[in-house]
Amino acid sequence: MMQQYHDAKAQHPGMLVLFRNGDFYELFEDDAELGARVLGITLTKRDGTIPMAGVPVHKLEHYLGLLLRAGHRVAVCEQMEEPDPKKKIIPREVNRIVTPGTITDDGLLDPRAPNYLVALVPAAKAGAYGIAWVDLSTGYFSAADVPAPKLSDELSRLNAVECLFADALTNVVAQAAGMHLPRSRVARPDWTFDPSTALAALKNHFAVSTFTGFGFEDAQPCLVAAGAVIIYLQETLKASLQHIRRLRPHRPDALLALDEVTRRSLELTRTLRDNQRDGSLLSVLDRTVTPMGARLLHDSVLAPLTDRPAIGARFDAVEELLKDHALRRAVREHLEACSDIQRLTTRVSTAKAGPRDLAAIARTLRKLPAVKAKLTGRRAPLLQELEARLELCPDIRELLDKAIEEDPPHIAKEGGVIRAGFSPELDELRALATDGKNWIARYQAQEITRTGIGSLKVGYNEIDGYYLEITNANETKTPAEYKHQKTLKNAKRYYTPSLREYEEKVVTSQDKSRALELQLFVTLRDQVAAQTPRLLNTAEVLAALDMLAALAELAAARNYVRPVLVDEPVLDVRDGRHPVLDQILPPGTFVPNDATFGPDGGTFWLVTGPNMAGKSTFLRQVALITLMAHMGSFVPAKGATIGMTDRIFTRVGASDELSRGQSTFMVEMTEAANILNNATPRSLVILDEIGRGTATYDGVSLAWAMTEYLHDVIGCRALFATHYHELAQLATALPRLRNYNVLVRELADEIVFLHKIAPGNAERSYGIHVARLAGVPDAVLKRATAVLGSLEKQHELPGVSAPATVPASAVPVASEELPTRKANVVQPPEAPRRKPKPQPSSPSLFGE
Ligand code: ADP
Repeated sequence: MMQQYHDAKAQHPGMLVLFRNGDFYELFEDDAELGARVLGITLTKRDGTIPMAGVPVHKLEHYLGLLLRAGHRVAVCEQMEEPDPKKKIIPREVNRIVTPGTITDDGLLDPRAPNYLVALVPAAKAGAYGIAWVDLSTGYFSAADVPAPKLSDELSRLNAVECLFADALTNVVAQAAGMHLPRSRVARPDWTFDPSTALAALKNHFAVSTFTGFGFEDAQPCLVAAGAVIIYLQETLKASLQHIRRLRPHRPDALLALDEVTRRSLELTRTLRDNQRDGSLLSVLDRTVTPMGARLLHDSVLAPLTDRPAIGARFDAVEELLKDHALRRAVREHLEACSDIQRLTTRVSTAKAGPRDLAAIARTLRKLPAVKAKLTGRRAPLLQELEARLELCPDIRELLDKAIEEDPPHIAKEGGVIRAGFSPELDELRALATDGKNWIARYQAQEITRTGIGSLKVGYNEIDGYYLEITNANETKTPAEYKHQKTLKNAKRYYTPSLREYEEKVVTSQDKSRALELQLFVTLRDQVAAQTPRLLNTAEVLAALDMLAALAELAAARNYVRPVLVDEPVLDVRDGRHPVLDQILPPGTFVPNDATFGPDGGTFWLVTGPNMAGKSTFLRQVALITLMAHMGSFVPAKGATIGMTDRIFTRVGASDELSRGQSTFMVEMTEAANILNNATPRSLVILDEIGRGTATYDGVSLAWAMTEYLHDVIGCRALFATHYHELAQLATALPRLRNYNVLVRELADEIVFLHKIAPGNAERSYGIHVARLAGVPDAVLKRATAVLGSLEKQHELPGVSAPATVPASAVPVASEELPTRKANVVQPPEAPRRKPKPQPSSPSLFGE
């Protein structure tokens, strides 16, 4: 047996082997130790030496789920025959391979999120990578060549669950992708990434000789990655891949670029703090009613568009669905009754679908005419297009309606799947079985009369088959021709030749009818599988419609407004709200704010104000509104004019980066460098504190210089929240810089946060007030107040009344270093000669 096990291990390198042994699937040796850790199961020893850990057969799916989530790939080795005491060794075979990126089982997938498997190859010319990714559960297959610096952004956007690369390049790839490789990393045999082999596999799969028809150039490295994906899937699944019917070129330049830091800090699909969907932008936007729509929305949040007409088309569709309540309600009701035909079709086409899956497809197809009718005669071109693309697939529907029971059992083998009237042969077999059963029922009545035993009954079980049962009390009346079969405590069981004869009839016709049903079911599934492209096309239409109707529903429920998109890099949001806080806070408590960037409003807003005032909220709100508009969503505001944006950059608190082993300040500067090097005049830059992780003067100086650079050299729209009140002076020199602050009201020694953004810079930090709110002990607060007073008096820290303008020549950041748009330069606050060191006025810190 261990020989079988080792063979299975050798044939499936890098996988855990779950080895069937009777009522358990066992893990042995190193796998057992790992399994015990990951699954929390008991580690034992086989024959006192070999480490072993097992899971009960009926809990296989549960434990598979846990192993997948931990990033493991699993080969399930089955017993291929029933155990037989005469045979010492049962033949075993691996007949199922389960990996995070190749699952299609409903129970193991998140219905609302895509599940990507990704492959990557370094391009021949250095500095670029070819990547390809597939969501096997839906058949979505895409590829792109990306410059090396963008690789991690793309990988983090995909958030793949499994990644393939050539064995020989393990180190290269790991270095380039860094943190962004999923836990399940598969170093594949090098030949599967060999360009000629991989391209041949890809051409073969799509039956094409060139990929120009898909929108690629034939020499693109990403095609090699795509071919390697196909080879891997063929090997792993040993099933049809016909639902993967095209390779879509991914064009990052047609999308609003969001680097990984920005995606995470804006909490687009997951929160920063606990990595949950709840509380993310996606969670408040998601009013979809189908899993297909939810997945499309998920992808759209991470990939907003930059094509104005395409966004405008979405706006038009959302607007029509918003204004026409009845239409929206009807569409959503119909959609809600639709199943996930995207994943169902995949299961059909990979021969994994059961009777219920086909019944669900049938039910969904029945809904389509109503959906189509609702879309007919709409004004919005996108709705018209969806109407035209929606295939009703009447032939499939008719076939399924005729063939499949409304509510069939899970497993086709059990019978009861095929409707009466679909197959005359099946009807006949069923009739024979029923006749036999009826005869048996009549036989009981007849024998009761004949023998005079009122309690005589004909029963059935798997082991004994049909039998006549007579209680001990009536034993004497038993007819002589009854043959004894079994003795129970209170009764005896008998059979007769005629009972056996009819039993034979019932059982054979039942067996035959079940076999036929299974065969009919498989044929049916193949027929539906042949129509995969049409069903997937329809699924895409339903997903798009669901997303648009959901955005309309959201806009209606939350009072959103249609943004006006313009080419000029402006941003004019009136009474904007933070989409997440607006929904989370009690109604009416969120304080709306304007953001007016443009010719008069400046392009660079410096926002000061105490902690907790609402600076971050405001900054993120502006970024989120911009992003939502580019997705085609209405936005939480009274009015919004938004200039087309090519990228959103953010740099906010970095505490969660510490796990990467970099210092907070280093992370902060890396992110700042990325922004300064890559922002364009069309970008939106959000800086929430810069330079705090270093000494105050280093920090101020860096923040100062970065502000000048963004303002003078790049000229993008930017929001900078800062504690460095000194920076406010820059307004006198930088013409497009505006000072704003978040208003607070002082009441006695309390402060009230008004959360209102107003022109001007904050005068005080109120740090001690916030510390009080946080519960810092009174003694510390008192002491801090005293220290602050003495420091302010000594002017040892730069105060708000810092120096005024001096000639440009006096400035260390020489103006010639700033390439363009030179402005008057203000001298930064004077550096102190010695480090500020608070001198306590009394020897005891907490004396009184
Ligand atoms: P800061 O960045 O200035 O420290 P935050 O933006 O983190 O402050 O806001 C702190 C808290 O104040 C938020 O968690 C929220 O509860 C509340 N808040 C912020 N902005 C608003 C607003 N516009 N309306 C209502 N509450 C707000």
